[in-house]
Amino acid sequence: MPRPPKDVTCRCGHTSTMTISKMLCIKCGKYIFYDDQSRRRHRIHSFYGVALLAAGLTLITYFFVEMIVVPLFPR
Ligand SMILES: [Zn+2]
Repeated sequence: MPRPPKDVTCRCGHTSTMTISKMLCIKCGKYIFYDDQSRRRHRIHSFYGVALLAAGLTLITYFFVEMIVVPLFPR
């Protein structure tokens, strides 16, 4: 969603003109955000990404144990 251009100063001191909610700082390569709401949304998205990854790994481990380990070593 395009927004009116706004100058945002990164923590490293570099100022970028932003028209989108988040972008990478050209100087230090870190994310800079248009406003606090965008920053919060980015944090929530990152959290969901990690949670999904953890859920996926748990599922893979479960299937690995059920399909490979259990048939190999019957109780
Ligand atoms: Zn920077």
